Amino acid sequence: MSNCIFCKIVSGDIPSDKVLENDKFIAFHDLNPKAPVHILVIPKEHFQSFHEIPAETMKNMTPFIQEVAIKMGVEKSGYRLITNIGENGGQEVGHIHFHLFGGTKLKWEHLTDSDPKNLF
Ligand code: 5GP
Ligand code: ZN
Repeated sequence: MSNCIFCKIVSGDIPSDKVLENDKFIAFHDLNPKAPVHILVIPKEHFQSFHEIPAETMKNMTPFIQEVAIKMGVEKSGYRLITNIGENGGQEVGHIHFHLFGGTKLKWEHLTDSDPKNLF
């Protein structure tokens, strides 16, 4: 059996607070939310990251994510989608997931400790 925690969420071996599910995707609340709305959207099939996901899966994921945003009531107020990829991307769980953040005006700040303008 897979050691992947998100595969275990798919199989139901680890419980999750689900928002939406169909035969290909699941959306559930993040365990440690960083915003009033913080949902994780994953394909049921295991792919390491965005870099491995087939275009066909991404295509099918688009309307699913839009539906999640509607279900969470953020489609008009706006929201943010992020997928972290690999070490520099800050990915901790090796099963591709999109973070959907919303419910408030989100901050948009430097993503490095130093001012990027001073790095070159
Ligand atoms: P990453 O850093 O890989 O982009 O994000 C992983 C996310 O998964 C984190 O925001 C973390 O809070 C969330 N997370 C980790 N383990 C679990 C879990 O078992 N259940 C849920 N619902 N979220 C988890
Ligand atoms: Zn997995």
